[in-house]
Amino acid sequence: MKILVTGGAGFIGSHLCDRLLDDGHEVMAMDNLITGSVDNIAHLAGRSGFSFIRHDVTDYIFVAGELDFVFHLASPASPADYMAYPIQTLKVGSLGTHKALGLALAKGAGFLLASTSEVYGDPLVHPQPEGYWGNVNPVGPRGVYDEAKRFAEAMTFAYRRYHELDARIARIFNTYGPRMRSDDGRVVPTFIGQALAGENLTVFGDGSQTRSFCYVADTVDGLVKLMESDFAGPVNIGNPREMTVAEFARFVLDTVDSSSSIAYKPLPVDDPKVRRPDISLAREKLGWLPKISLEEGMAHTVEYFRNRRK
Ligand code: NAD
Ligand code: UDP
Repeated sequence: MKILVTGGAGFIGSHLCDRLLDDGHEVMAMDNLITGSVDNIAHLAGRSGFSFIRHDVTDYIFVAGELDFVFHLASPASPADYMAYPIQTLKVGSLGTHKALGLALAKGAGFLLASTSEVYGDPLVHPQPEGYWGNVNPVGPRGVYDEAKRFAEAMTFAYRRYHELDARIARIFNTYGPRMRSDDGRVVPTFIGQALAGENLTVFGDGSQTRSFCYVADTVDGLVKLMESDFAGPVNIGNPREMTVAEFARFVLDTVDSSSSIAYKPLPVDDPKVRRPDISLAREKLGWLPKISLEEGMAHTVEYFRNRRK
C-alpha cells in the first residue's frame, strides 16, 4: 500500500514508518517539525519507498497520485509541548484532522486517528474502557490537547457516518522508547536523563498518581493491527501494567543503577490521578496485546539515552 503518516518525524510516527517500510509498504512521512525532528527519520533517507514532506497539516494537504491509507499522528503530545503550543495543538487536532480526513476521502483511502487516553481526562472509572466518556476540564491547561483530540474523534466518526469513510480511532496510552526527546518533559525521558546525570528525580505531587507504560514497538503493532482489521474502534492501545509515579522513579533508579534520590515538586494542574487501559476490546477485535515487558523496554530506552550522552 501507499501510506501517508502525518507526524512521521515524531517519536511514534518514525517507528511506525520503520514498521510499515519493513512490512513492504510505500511510506510518505509528513511533518512540520514543531516537536519532531529529521534525526528520527535520517536513517530512512534514500531508502526505497520512503519520502518526507515538510508541511503543516493545518494547511491544505496535497499528495500526488494514489494513496491507500492515512495515519494521522500529527500533534504535540507531551504535556510540556502542548502547553507551550496551545493554539497549534488545538489547530492540528481540529483543522489538521479535517484536512487529513478530506485527503483520505478524496483519495478513497483508509484513515486512522491517533487519539489518546487523555480523552478520559482525570478518569472516574478505573481501568478505562472505551465506553467511558471521560472527565475533562475544557478550560484547564490540558484542555487544549484533550478537547482537540475529542473534537478529532468526533470529526473522524462524522466522516465515517456521513461520508462512509473507512475511518478508525486508536486511543493510545503512555508510550515510551528510543527517539523520545530528552527534553520533552514526559516522565520517562525526564527520569532517565536525571538518573544518568546523577540529578534528583523530580516526582510531581506525592507520586501516588498512576500510569501504565507501553513500549513503542507494541503500540506501533497495535496501530498496524487496527489498520489491517475491519474494526473501527475507538480501541485502547496500551499496556495495563500500572504503577505509581513514585514506584516508577524507584524502578528507573534500579534500572540505571543510579545513586540519585527523589525531589518532590508540585503536581501540575489537572494531572490525572490514575490511568490504566482496559484492553479487552483490542485483544478480542485485533488479537493484540503488548508483548514487551517494562524491564525489557526500559533496558532498550536507557541504552538509547546513554548512547546519546556520549
Ligand atoms: P511527537 O511530538 O514526538 O510527534 C508528533 C509529531 O507531529 C511531531 O513530529 C510534530 O512535529 C508533528 N506535528 C505536530 N503538529 C503538526 C502539524 N500541524 N503539521 C505537521 N506535523 C505536525 O509525539 P508522539 O509521542 O510521537 O505522539 C504521536 C501521536 O500519538 C500524537 O498524535 C499523540 O497525540 C499520540 N499519542 C501519543 C502518546 C504517547 O505516549 N507518546 C499517547 C497518546 C497519544
Ligand atoms: N511526572 C513527574 N515528574 C516529571 C514528569 C512527569 O512526576 O518530571 C509525572 C506527571 O505529573 C504525571 C506522570 O508523571 O503524573 C506522567 O507524566 P507525563 O508528562 O509523562 O505524561 P501524562 O501521562 O501526564 O500525559
